[in-house]
Amino acid sequence: MSDKDATETTGADAAGIARAAEILRSGGLVAVPTETVYGLAARADSEEAVAKIYAAKGRPSINPLIVHIASLEQARSLAEFVGHAEEVAAAAWPGALTLVLPRKADAGLASAVSAGLPTIAIRMPAHPTMRALIEASGFPLAAPSANRSNAISPTSAEHVLATLEGRVDLVLDGGTAEKGLESTILAIRHDGSWEELRPGPVDVSLLHQHFFDRPLRPTKAKNGIEAPGQMQRHYSPGKPVRLNAREAASGEFLIGFGAIAGQCSLSESGDLGEAAARLYACLHQAAEAEQPNIAIAPIPDEGVGKAVNDRLRRAAA
Ligand code: AMP
Ligand code: MG
Repeated sequence: MSDKDATETTGADAAGIARAAEILRSGGLVAVPTETVYGLAARADSEEAVAKIYAAKGRPSINPLIVHIASLEQARSLAEFVGHAEEVAAAAWPGALTLVLPRKADAGLASAVSAGLPTIAIRMPAHPTMRALIEASGFPLAAPSANRSNAISPTSAEHVLATLEGRVDLVLDGGTAEKGLESTILAIRHDGSWEELRPGPVDVSLLHQHFFDRPLRPTKAKNGIEAPGQMQRHYSPGKPVRLNAREAASGEFLIGFGAIAGQCSLSESGDLGEAAARLYACLHQAAEAEQPNIAIAPIPDEGVGKAVNDRLRRAAA
């Protein structure tokens, strides 16, 4: 669509999903709620449709997309389930875990989806709207977060419109995303070894413990081709961000946690799951506030707090 076209917004009901599926079938873009963040979906089997995702987001073409599927059968047609991948999928899907697996040669996907890599990132989402949309459209959906590249991720329809108004055909408004953080990304290699490419709501160290009797050791964050989403600067609110702040200095909007109140609290009770769910809403608020700077209270580096701190470090970079 051209920049001046209007973006439609509808509820995430049966009529909205049918309309969205029709737009997807004809190669358009739909923003859709998932349990992680809102996704910007296009049919993954069409080079033209996938190219529109990159254009709408201003996303560099080296940064591959996650393909969303609604059944294991669909997943198996796209990727080799090497090592413990079948068991991991059985344990974690539907849910906030993306598996990066060797891509099948006859997967029938647009090559841009995996940015030329021999692997493919796939996820079976739990959100009923996203699942219904994949089923109604009849093909896998490529869907990165529904925001301009490098901007703060969207956990509501308003957040989507803030950067993509006029660049997406339809937004399905399904309220606030429950987890509020992008999926955990786990690569499983041909030799069966694991690598966490991005921390998220699912704790892969626990899963690794289950299968290998030892926790998964973190590998150093990479950049470049292997894990492009590990770019150091990301989720940027467009203002300087100071981490581990106990109080606001002059000119700072303080995002609080627990006993540190701030102008927007991630969780007054100090709950890390709530902090993950509220992170992007507070960052959006801070970005729009009059203060030229942002300060953020310390977040315990445990459980999903690790994923929150990962996003905060990139927001501050
Ligand atoms: P987003 O959808 O915006 O949350 O970003 C998706 C992220 O998935 C990318 O930035 C990559 O880090 C990761 N990803 C997708 N496909 C692959 C792949 N084949 N290999 C490694 N990482 C991938
Ligand atoms: Mg993103």
